[in-house]
Amino acid sequence: MFSQRAIEALKKEGFKITKPRKWIVEFLENNTSHPSAVEIYEQLRSKDKSFSFATVYNTLDVLVKSGIVRQISTDPKCSRFDPDLSNHGHFYCNKCGAVYDIFDIDINFNELKGKVEEYQLNLFGICEKCLKGGN
Ligand SMILES: [Zn+2]
Ligand SMILES: [Zn+2]
Repeated sequence: MFSQRAIEALKKEGFKITKPRKWIVEFLENNTSHPSAVEIYEQLRSKDKSFSFATVYNTLDVLVKSGIVRQISTDPKCSRFDPDLSNHGHFYCNKCGAVYDIFDIDINFNELKGKVEEYQLNLFGICEKCLKGGN
C-alpha cells in the first residue's frame, strides 16, 4: 500500500524508479523510528557505492509534497520523517534523541470553527529508557 503509493507519486513527478529509490521507500514503510534524511542515508549507503544523499533528499521531497510521508519538526536539530499520516503527537527525548508516537491524545477538533490543515504536537522530555539508565 505505502510502497505502491510512494512509487506512483515518484513516477508522477518524473522520477525513474531506481533501486536506491525503492530502498528508501521500503525503509520508510512501517518505520516508526522517525528517521532523518541523514539517518536514512547512513542506513542504506552500504547497499551500493553509488547511493547518494541527493537521492535521499529528492525522494523525501517528492514523498512529502505528495502527502505520502509527513515531515515533522519534533527534533530541534533536523527534520524527521514519518510514514504514519494519522493524527498523532510525538515525544522527543532530550537525552537520546529518540522520537516516540503518542496516539492517546484527546483533542476535540470539532471545537475549532476553522479547518485543521496540519497537525503537529510535540512533547519534550526524557524517555523511559533514559530514565532507567538504559541509554
Ligand atoms: Zn531517551
Ligand atoms: Zn509518528
